[in-house]
Amino acid sequence: MSVKAVLMTGSNMGDREGNLSAALSMLDEAGRVTACSGVYESEPWGEMGDGGGNFMNQAVVLETGLAPEELLDVTQDIERRLGRTVKGEGRGPRVYASRMIDIDILFYGDMVVDTGRLVVPHPLMGAREFVLMPLAEILPGMRHPVTGKTVAEMLSELKDKCRV
Ligand code: ADP
Ligand code: MG
Repeated sequence: MSVKAVLMTGSNMGDREGNLSAALSMLDEAGRVTACSGVYESEPWGEMGDGGGNFMNQAVVLETGLAPEELLDVTQDIERRLGRTVKGEGRGPRVYASRMIDIDILFYGDMVVDTGRLVVPHPLMGAREFVLMPLAEILPGMRHPVTGKTVAEMLSELKDKCRV
């Protein structure tokens, strides 16, 4: 049985586009990549403790036979191998670390997961334009399993909120 998982890769250090494409090709260790968005550039979100540069982000659709936490094991292993050293600490407000590569699991089919180590759908998805923009490019009609909203609806609501 395979599930459609949606991931977001991000990088704000080193050869940022190179890091994203390296992560993309390594992701076939976790399944089959069936679609990906273009690469979007954005300013760092939240507070960067170390003056890191702009982020590049890409949404990736993966057909995977792995269970949610097995998928997280593989994505974290890819992060490590691509040279990510500083990890964030748990949930809540914190200082964000610059990284070669960050891989977040946005959706795992329409499953809702909360094991402490893994929360899916990714809780901050609806608040981050740099997540919703690339996602809307490839999956505008994908529905959030809890709110029932589509990605396109989340994006337009976010834009409404930012408008002065
Ligand atoms: P962020 O992605 O928020 O910038 P990190 O990549 O450092 O921060 O993630 C910190 C922790 O978040 C990871 O150790 C992981 O266990 C946890 N985590 C919880 N839910 C998810 C998810 N959906 N995707 C990726 N990591 C997650
Ligand atoms: Mg992450």
